[in-house]
Amino acid sequence: KVVTRFAPSPTGYLHIGGARTALFNWLYARGRGGTFLLRIEDTDRARSTPEATAAILQGLDWLGLDHDGEVVSQAARADRHAEVAHALLDKGAAYKCFSTQEEIEAFREAARAEGRSTLFRSPWRDADPATHPEDAPFAIRLKAPETGETVIRDAVQGDVRIGNDQLDDMILLRSDGTPVYMLAVVVDDHDMGVTHVIRGDDHLNNAARQMGIYTAMGWDLPVYAHIPLIHGPDGKKLSKRHGAVGLEEYQVMGYPAAGMRNYLARLGWSHGDDEFFTDEQAQEWFDLDGIGKSPARLDFKKLENVCGQHIAVMEDAALLHEITRYLAAKGDVPLTEAQKDGLMRAMYCLKDRAKTLPELLEKAHFVLTSAPVDPDEKAAKALDDVSRGILKELTPHLQNASWSRDGLEAATNAVADAHGIKFGKMAGPLRAALAGRTVTPSVFDMMLVLGPEETLLRLEQAGR
Ligand code: GLU
Repeated sequence: KVVTRFAPSPTGYLHIGGARTALFNWLYARGRGGTFLLRIEDTDRARSTPEATAAILQGLDWLGLDHDGEVVSQAARADRHAEVAHALLDKGAAYKCFSTQEEIEAFREAARAEGRSTLFRSPWRDADPATHPEDAPFAIRLKAPETGETVIRDAVQGDVRIGNDQLDDMILLRSDGTPVYMLAVVVDDHDMGVTHVIRGDDHLNNAARQMGIYTAMGWDLPVYAHIPLIHGPDGKKLSKRHGAVGLEEYQVMGYPAAGMRNYLARLGWSHGDDEFFTDEQAQEWFDLDGIGKSPARLDFKKLENVCGQHIAVMEDAALLHEITRYLAAKGDVPLTEAQKDGLMRAMYCLKDRAKTLPELLEKAHFVLTSAPVDPDEKAAKALDDVSRGILKELTPHLQNASWSRDGLEAATNAVADAHGIKFGKMAGPLRAALAGRTVTPSVFDMMLVLGPEETLLRLEQAGR
């Protein structure tokens, strides 16, 4: 059974690269009837904050990446990590190192001066326990192989070979009794039953060291998949100057979560030429083979296209939910029940061609506002004396029209014909009168959604 995990360090916001890592793990597990776990790697007490943990949980929740079981706190498991360090000591796979920080520094300095490798080789590795000092503080170090090589069989990178002479006997437990991060990761992954470790390739070198602990404990290795980082549109490592790097910023910009999932899935993974897909398809298709070896580039145009396609096919209620969350994330006033009703009635004519939620909301202005409509600057210009007169004339025609698309069209065309103008000439003033905006759905859709009473009221008020 597949068990994956997302193991963020809560030291800031949820980076979009982290969100993608979480998504890959989630897709891999969900598509295989597996389990997706969440572990907060909060061992760095100085840098970890509860706010950062909250931001990670909020981001995952928004993105719809539900995890199984309780959230695991790495810091809370320190005793278990220490226990494993001692187990390795008992097995003879680790040893007590009494070297002090000063001695280690002196070793390094001498090595530098003589042009030798500065990797610390502890003199205590093979020391007879009888020679151990009494009551002196010691660290527990892993007895790593000094020759040969460690081969990481990576599902993305292929076989990655690292000479064992590049690895020192890493500390497992510091002299103050605290476990090191590298040990904590391995013990937690083992205890949580993690079968697949999918994470950023900045952890590739760590894998070689972590494998040493698995081997020493006689534990099964997980499958490793180290995914390339995300780059900016210019091919350079993603940073603030490329724009948004925190997932939350994307929520505030109004990208729907479904579109974001789709886009992030495609960022570094592909399935043929498919750009647009559902969660079900992504779960079914996602595999480690489809992950590329080179960094993916962030492409806002693609993101918008994909988001637009999701908005177009989304269920009305789901879209309303997205809008509600978007407004809350931005700190805007929540929608009233009347506005929600209006949105639901109008959704059919708002969905297509909106690439983001704010674009959709702009078109939705006519149902979010109420009479008297307050036109913006551009709309006000469309309402000159001539067009006011034409709108007044339209009123009796509309009063007699059947309230259907054909009926409304016939009524409007009759007035346009009488003035020898094209319907297009009337559209601007009608938009201004009904919505107070120049970007709106079609005037007939607005009339149908607003109904006769509200439509005639707005026309009357605009004609004054
Ligand atoms: N806590 C690490 C990070 O946030 C991830 C470690 C791992 O996935 O093994 O980069």
